[in-house]
Amino acid sequence: SSIPKIVILGAGYGGILTAQRLQKALNYNEADVTLVNRHEYHYFTTHLHMPAAGTDSIEHTRVSISKLIDEFKIDLVKSSVQEIRTQQKKVILEDGTLSYDYLVIALGGEPETFGIPGLDKYALTIRSINSVRLIREHIEYQFAKYKNENNAQEHINFVVGGAGFSGIEFVAELADRIPALCKEYDVDPSMVNIYNVEAAPTALPGFAPELVEHAMTVLTKKGVTFKIGVAIKECLPNGVILATGEEIKASTIVWTGGIRGNRLIEAAGFEAMRGRVKVDEYLRVPGHENIFIIGDGSLMINPEGRPYPPTAQIAMQQGECCAFNLVAAIRSQQPKKFAFSNKGTVASLGKGQGIAVVGDKKYRGWTAAQLKKVVDMRYLFIIGGIPLVLKKGRFF
Ligand code: FAD
Repeated sequence: SSIPKIVILGAGYGGILTAQRLQKALNYNEADVTLVNRHEYHYFTTHLHMPAAGTDSIEHTRVSISKLIDEFKIDLVKSSVQEIRTQQKKVILEDGTLSYDYLVIALGGEPETFGIPGLDKYALTIRSINSVRLIREHIEYQFAKYKNENNAQEHINFVVGGAGFSGIEFVAELADRIPALCKEYDVDPSMVNIYNVEAAPTALPGFAPELVEHAMTVLTKKGVTFKIGVAIKECLPNGVILATGEEIKASTIVWTGGIRGNRLIEAAGFEAMRGRVKVDEYLRVPGHENIFIIGDGSLMINPEGRPYPPTAQIAMQQGECCAFNLVAAIRSQQPKKFAFSNKGTVASLGKGQGIAVVGDKKYRGWTAAQLKKVVDMRYLFIIGGIPLVLKKGRFF
């Protein structure tokens, strides 16, 4: 047929926003839109640290994609993408192929281990619903093991690699969960150790120094031991070796220290830096006017000449811009340039605690913790309206 085919790969922040804006903007029979995702649900990556630590449920962290998309307008395909073949304009799925005229790659990121030996094999990562289920169960199992294996300390030592956004949010939740675990498994809380190891000279790069200091004070009080400016040299089945030569015994190692684009992007032959493609100002891959990359797989440079950090916030805005440019392409109209509008940054530090920057204002404590909820609710509202806010929102 002559109806253009649009295929969107990935139903995360970028993919969902693209699909929703397309279904609103496109006229009947103007394009065939297909959304491909590995699971039947969309998950809130920015919330994964909670079910990982066990402080919130999986059901607050995901929603069925069919609740977000009008299936009379968009075909949902639950499958795993295996390969992108740009020459044939085809996408190979685990159970079939799709052809496209326009392609949106919104497959998110993957952990980057920088070649540190053992991390791939022994560290857990916070990347999906399935991966955080494993972390949660693993932690509980270690408490049980501790009581059954002569109180071997490594079972209740926890190492988190990386003190960026995800690392900090996760150690905060973990520290909040420890008292309940100790009670349940009859463990003396003073025996538990949580180490947060970061190679960079500071935790939470990008936040103002006074907020970083506040965050570290709050978390130290909760029982977290920081090792900042110290690299992990090697990861072992039961611990890590630091660049200083120090060895920390721990049966649980969670790696949050790096993020890269999806490996399918490099495999497709696009020029990429750690799996991220420097897209043009319309979000297209250079040399491929019909292929857009948004979210963690895209690389854009901010006005100060530095790459924007990969965030849900930018992925959503790119999704909206991408949908606009797809409609423009189909109608032979002018595309628009992507312009990031920074709505602020909030990091949770566990129950009732947080830090936030909105414009040039800085917040901490309870106010910041409330702002985090506002951000989460705003997102639920954008993708699912009031019903989704009521169903998945966490008001307390
Ligand atoms: P994603 O949202 O990751 O979506 C990718 C989708 O593609 C997923 O649904 C995945 O299942 C699917 N997929 C992947 N591979 C395949 C395949 N081969 N086949 C089919 N489907 C596939 N950002 C913020 O702005 N604010 C925060 O507070 C914040 N907190 C964070 C906390 C944590 C713990 C983490 C891990 C991240 C946080 N981020 C935060 C970053 C943010 O989550 C990401 O930048 C954002 O999810 C990127 O969106 P995306 O659309 O590129 O990809």
